[in-house]
Amino acid sequence: MSRRQLVVGNWKMHGSRPANATLLDGILQAGPFACDVAVCVPFPFLSETAATLASSDIRWGSQDCSAQEQGAYTGEVSAAMLHEFGCRYAIVGHSERRAMHAESDQLVADKAKAALARGVTPIVCVGETRAQREAGETEAVVKRQLAAVIHTLAHCAGEIVVAYEPVWAIGTGLTASPEQAQSVHALLRAQLRAASGAHADEMKILYGGSVKPDNAATLFAQPDIDGGLIGGASLKAADFVAICRAGH
Ligand code: PEP
Repeated sequence: MSRRQLVVGNWKMHGSRPANATLLDGILQAGPFACDVAVCVPFPFLSETAATLASSDIRWGSQDCSAQEQGAYTGEVSAAMLHEFGCRYAIVGHSERRAMHAESDQLVADKAKAALARGVTPIVCVGETRAQREAGETEAVVKRQLAAVIHTLAHCAGEIVVAYEPVWAIGTGLTASPEQAQSVHALLRAQLRAASGAHADEMKILYGGSVKPDNAATLFAQPDIDGGLIGGASLKAADFVAICRAGH
């Protein structure tokens, strides 16, 4: 099965208007790419990013969205607001938010549901900590995290993008070996197949965790790895472009 791959930059809380202009210009100059490419930027930069990318095929998204429709939720941003000006993706359940903002599996699932309801594709992150891997709990943890989303989305579960991001590999320079990543991706795909049938073969499962220009091609060559969610290396145009060029 050949799926068109997707490479997504997660800028996290980085950037400034001049730095963003340089970075986006570097990506635009290097395109078009053989895979789909997107950048997920901090909320204040979404509108300007949308304008900069308007006449290109580079997509853009947010790094979170509220599970709520609207109301007294100070500091939250709803999927409807994101959709109103063309947001394509929302990362939900990034391990930094699960850890620092105590986001539960159910809250992540509710965010994914809110995003989908407004036509924004959630990129749902799952992944085990180092302690969980060492305790042999990787499979149980990622399946539990994905199960909450599948259960909550029911027949819409096939509309999400999944990102497997082992927590121990994020920002550490440690990367899951292509075999380690592939084996988790294969079990996630099997879980999606059980929920969404053959459509699971068309769904994208991204790998994230210290993807760099020198390891991207080997990771992306694995049969169930459909691209990457890129943190640190998405902040430098040359590195991000090299990773995008490894996609197909
Ligand atoms: C991430 O934050 O989603 C990520 C994968 O970060 P890094 O590439 O820096 O490990």
